[in-house]
Amino acid sequence: MAGEAILVVEDNPTNLKLAKLLLTVEGYEVRTAVDAEEALKVLATFHPQLILMDLQLPGKNGLDLTMYLKADPKFKEILIVALTAYAMKGDEERALAAGCDGYMTKPVSAATFPMELAKYLQKPRGLSRQE
Ligand code: MN
Repeated sequence: MAGEAILVVEDNPTNLKLAKLLLTVEGYEVRTAVDAEEALKVLATFHPQLILMDLQLPGKNGLDLTMYLKADPKFKEILIVALTAYAMKGDEERALAAGCDGYMTKPVSAATFPMELAKYLQKPRGLSRQE
């Protein structure tokens, strides 16, 4: 069961559209941002359980934005899952070092994406959920 609020930060329009579609179909409340600046604007009024964070963003990149959010008491409880390009070896390590709670590999696959994401939402810190 879904319904959790999710923010997708991704500058690639195709990936953003696909991620939003797949999550919306699953019943999540989805907001999107194309860069760090827009993400912070959205976060001023939207309180997601999880952020899907593309690492390669124009301007402040996803790693910097993650470090910024994890250093702020207002945001540090939000789960952050990095979206990493398949070919970019080392991105996973960098994502975890920056404070990401996990990572998913791009391109987003319609077959596995919702299930992979649900794994992160099933184990929020200190809470247990039942299906
Ligand atoms: Mn990107």
